[in-house]
Amino acid sequence: MLDEVKGFWVTFRRLFTPNVTIQYPEEKRQMAPRFRGLPSLRADPETGEPLCVACGLCARICPTSCLEMTVVPSEEGDRELAEFILRSGRCLFCGMCAQVCPVDAITMSGEYELATLQRDGLIYTKTELAAIGAQNLGWWDADTQDAR
Ligand code: SF4
Ligand code: SF4
Repeated sequence: MLDEVKGFWVTFRRLFTPNVTIQYPEEKRQMAPRFRGLPSLRADPETGEPLCVACGLCARICPTSCLEMTVVPSEEGDRELAEFILRSGRCLFCGMCAQVCPVDAITMSGEYELATLQRDGLIYTKTELAAIGAQNLGWWDADTQDAR
């Protein structure tokens, strides 16, 4: 009998404590600064130009080879990034691509809603990654450098 009373008491006490759950997806939690969501591309906030210098280090270090890029000669005779593909179905969210990038052009965004019914939906292009990068400040953003 005592055990039943104890059980009811635990339930009764919970009626007067604040909720810890939220109404997802209407409500969303702020992700921790070091949360590693989808890798995304960053652009110069003043010019809007992608920061990527097409060095290929991120693709080379990626343990699952899920990054792919097309590099073309630029008008100045330098290298220019034509396309940047991320196959997110293979991504481990390890963050090695962001760590190795010499110009902080690729960052781990806070994006985690990646479910899709189409396999093609797992493939992100340069434009899509740049759009996510513009919305989600990652580890490497100047404001969150201390979160490295
Ligand atoms: S987070 Fe890791 S697995 Fe994903 S693209 Fe970057 S290096 Fe590759
Ligand atoms: S490491 Fe950085 S600069 Fe080099 S290709 Fe990847 S995103 Fe671009």
